Amino acid sequence: MEIFGRSRRRLAFAYALIMCVFMAVIIFVVHMAMNWSMFSEQAQELSDAANSVAEVQTFYLQNPNISVDETRYFRSSNDRLFFYIFNENKQLIRFERASFRLEQFVLDVIESGNLAEGEVEVFQHSNETGQLNTVMMTSKKIVTDNASQTLYVGKDVTALYSGLQKATYAQVVLGFVAVLISSAIGYYMAGRALVPLKEAYDKQKQFAADASHELRTPLAVVMASADLLLADPSIKEPFLRQVLEDLKSEVKKMTNLVSDLLMVARSDNNALKVKIQRLDLTEILKQVIRTMTPIAEKKNIRLAGENFVKVMINADEQRIKQLAIILVDNAIKYTTEGGAVLIRLEKADNARAVFAVMDSGIGIAPEDLDKVFERFYRVDKARSREMGGNGLGLAIAAEIVKLHEGKISVASKLGEGTKFTVELKANLKK
Ligand code: ADP
Repeated sequence: MEIFGRSRRRLAFAYALIMCVFMAVIIFVVHMAMNWSMFSEQAQELSDAANSVAEVQTFYLQNPNISVDETRYFRSSNDRLFFYIFNENKQLIRFERASFRLEQFVLDVIESGNLAEGEVEVFQHSNETGQLNTVMMTSKKIVTDNASQTLYVGKDVTALYSGLQKATYAQVVLGFVAVLISSAIGYYMAGRALVPLKEAYDKQKQFAADASHELRTPLAVVMASADLLLADPSIKEPFLRQVLEDLKSEVKKMTNLVSDLLMVARSDNNALKVKIQRLDLTEILKQVIRTMTPIAEKKNIRLAGENFVKVMINADEQRIKQLAIILVDNAIKYTTEGGAVLIRLEKADNARAVFAVMDSGIGIAPEDLDKVFERFYRVDKARSREMGGNGLGLAIAAEIVKLHEGKISVASKLGEGTKFTVELKANLKK
């Protein structure tokens, strides 16, 4: 059943979408949290290093006579750490060099003055080979009575940041796999969830088919009884005869409705049988015109055929007749007295036979056009009922066309008329 397949796909898609958003949020939050914790830990280390270097340098400035053993005081245990101390004349007076691949970049950062004092910042730079280097830096003023110097401390955090990036890529890949797996599970679960619904739906379809089938016999009995009573000469009273006529007309409407319902129910159950034959479409259209002419004449409507050339189709004769009758009957119903209804064969080639039923009637508003093929849809309920309609005609017409793998469409202008076009497969050669 197409509707269940569609619902299943929609449910699975909605689920996959939710999982995607969920995964994206998780990956984003984890990435940000890792970034933040890494940054704060490194920043702490950098600030500590800056403080200890500044302390030693201050001591040295205050005690110029003491020789400072640089290797003891300044050498850091971490070879990724580096520092540069500049005096007030921007001369470099003491340093622990950054690695060769970073030094020029670090000096550029220092020179640019982009690093605010006391702040810890991350700077990134790609070298000529396209490799991304990341450094974390901070600066500190060293002020004594006789000197004012600036200390820049930094750390090469390239490996850490590229590790973080790799971890995030891995999470994205894992997230993608998780979404794929959960989509498959979602599709499976949606299928499972729809099983009871499908069963209930099947039962209801079967019920509609059985009920309409069972109603046919009693209706036929009532109809036959009414005919019998009308034929009885002892019933002379005009009022009674009128009651019987009304009864017959209502039973007829009901019989039509029940047979339409049965047809719709059978088509839902795929139980509509078609007897495909090779037949001339125009012959059928001519027959329909003959059958419907008396009804058209009652409303003084001119019913005619146009461009009728022989065109062979493979189709079920009764169904195609029923289809054309529905369209012509509607055209007559929704056209005012004195109008015209035309059946025209629009195309008859080796592949297609296209015919149109056109009227000069009341027309259909654009917003109703695509709904007229729905079951029980009637633009003007009162008018349709008055004309003996039940809103199933066009639904059945569409069903018949579908059964023949054809197409049906409608074009209309309010107050000017309507044109229904039916396209069927043709087969001239065989
Ligand atoms: P009904 O039994 O009410 O005619 P149908 O399914 O045959 O039901 O048609 C659905 C609705 O489409 C009708 O109620 C009517 O409002 C509109 N309709 C169908 N054919 C025409 C037409 N030729 N001109 C104007 N309106 C039409």
